[in-house]
Amino acid sequence: MTNKYIYFVANWKMFGDLRTLNSLDKVIKFSKNNKKNKFKIIYCPPNTLIRSLSKRFKKTKLEVGAQNCHYSYEYGAYTGQVNSSMLKNVGAKYIILGHSENRLLGETNRLINLKIKSAIKTGLKIIFCIGETLKEKKTNKTNQILKSQIEKGLKLIKKKSQIIIAYEPVWSIGTGIIPKEKELIKTILFIKSRFKKNYPKILYGGSVNGDNVDKLKKIPNIDGFLIGGASQNSKKFIDIIKKTIN
Ligand code: PEP
Repeated sequence: MTNKYIYFVANWKMFGDLRTLNSLDKVIKFSKNNKKNKFKIIYCPPNTLIRSLSKRFKKTKLEVGAQNCHYSYEYGAYTGQVNSSMLKNVGAKYIILGHSENRLLGETNRLINLKIKSAIKTGLKIIFCIGETLKEKKTNKTNQILKSQIEKGLKLIKKKSQIIIAYEPVWSIGTGIIPKEKELIKTILFIKSRFKKNYPKILYGGSVNGDNVDKLKKIPNIDGFLIGGASQNSKKFIDIIKKTIN
């Protein structure tokens, strides 16, 4: 862990309803009792819960983010879509973009680039996901893929201060498998090398849990974690945070 704050980003994916929110009281209490430690907890729930979460997090240090948006900064005839400023309007401060589950549905680097630009204009902080598939890893294309995702995703974006990179190997998401220590150190360094200076924060995501976080937290140049499955359970999420900060 390197930077001033350690990030714990909860990606709830398509999980949760209004009843689920009561379980967050445990996390709010935990955060209040841990004022000494410098960490950020950011919940990215489905859009249906952003407003309720941001109300619940008032007067706490917890923050809210969204999981995706339409590329258009303006309103438009896009049935079923929301744009980044609509998400900000209901309380989102962050947004996950480029998640592999959306890339799998056909989201291209070019589309992600448009979404990032729109979210920057809105003033959201972007958690920009990159990562190789198993096939790409097995054919030694990891660096090539990451380079291309970074270059195309951030094309013509000068102001990178709103960008946080989340390295999420696709083969690790939801599988319980994490990269080997040496591999991960190298890959994170490679990602860092793609930026001349003003390095963005870099998170790791993919099957982070209470059993592997002790290993993961020792990887240099990582500023925190993007956590899917384990973040849906407050106890498991707090366990990860505790093991990281202590
Ligand atoms: C994710 O979806 O971003 C993720 C990292 O999921 P999981 O922690 O479940 O692998």
